[in-house]
Amino acid sequence: MTEPVLEVTFPNLKRWASGNTGIPYVWSFDSGIDGPHVCVNALVHGNEVCGAIAVNELLNAFENGAKLARGKLTAVFANVAAYESFDPKRPFDSRCVEEDFNRLWNESTLNGDRHSRELTRARELRSLYDSVDHLLDLHSMLEPAPPIALAGDTEKGLALARAIGTPAHILVDSGHAAGKRLRDYAAFAEPHSPKSALLVECGQHWERNVGHVACNVMWRFLRHFETFDRAWLDSLIDHEPLPAQRVVEISEVVTLKSEQFSWVRPLRGLEVIAEAGTLLATDGAREVRTAHADAVMVMPVPHPKVGQTAVRIGRLR
Ligand SMILES: [Zn+2]
Repeated sequence: MTEPVLEVTFPNLKRWASGNTGIPYVWSFDSGIDGPHVCVNALVHGNEVCGAIAVNELLNAFENGAKLARGKLTAVFANVAAYESFDPKRPFDSRCVEEDFNRLWNESTLNGDRHSRELTRARELRSLYDSVDHLLDLHSMLEPAPPIALAGDTEKGLALARAIGTPAHILVDSGHAAGKRLRDYAAFAEPHSPKSALLVECGQHWERNVGHVACNVMWRFLRHFETFDRAWLDSLIDHEPLPAQRVVEISEVVTLKSEQFSWVRPLRGLEVIAEAGTLLATDGAREVRTAHADAVMVMPVPHPKVGQTAVRIGRLR
């Protein structure tokens, strides 16, 4: 693996440690005026700094006197233990401490008797997430790729991604076999609940622009829910015209079956392969080919391990 370049500064989050909710690193603000309870969530993965940059900005805004226009807002730094373990020499290691915080959101896992650092934190945050109406979960990616919104597989998830208006690509997907993501937890994924959630991958973990992308998505999310004064939010939001959004549906998940896996060539995130039947990789004796024309490569993993997803293949809706 090539040596990663860290182009972003990691904010010091210590001053937010106390929180104001009884839960460390969780801050809630209530306008006292009717309106939804929205949540901006950072650091589900400890090395995905963009969310920490955005939530840090948001809390700074409150310190500088920002006031809610309606409803309630909660800002969360989720897996702070993983973030605190970040080592620039081994930056990939701080995704989690013991296990992936974003595979724990099945009732059976949360209610079960298994223990890990991440499960303890998930159980500590659970009742808070239960009280949230609309969740924005900020993430970033291993490999350089355009930002993408992960809308889940409900119409309301897609509607939220469209209402925010950026990023340009929206993925309709049902998550991972290994365990439920926070964005799919409980009412967030129930088609008939008015609650909703959106996960946004803001770019490569440590690329220069990743924090800016996260902030822009956050301010647009808060504008959609009229959480703050619109003119103030407009002053914070990028003003370039937005490209039309494109919806990608997953048609196939390529999971590694053998130790002898090799890509024919490196794939770029969201690259489109025009011809059906194009050879992508060999996995032992198995050939991995595109099953249809205009196949979109979603978050390819350069060095996947057996049993893991190597790439998800999508088609444009
Ligand atoms: Zn992530």
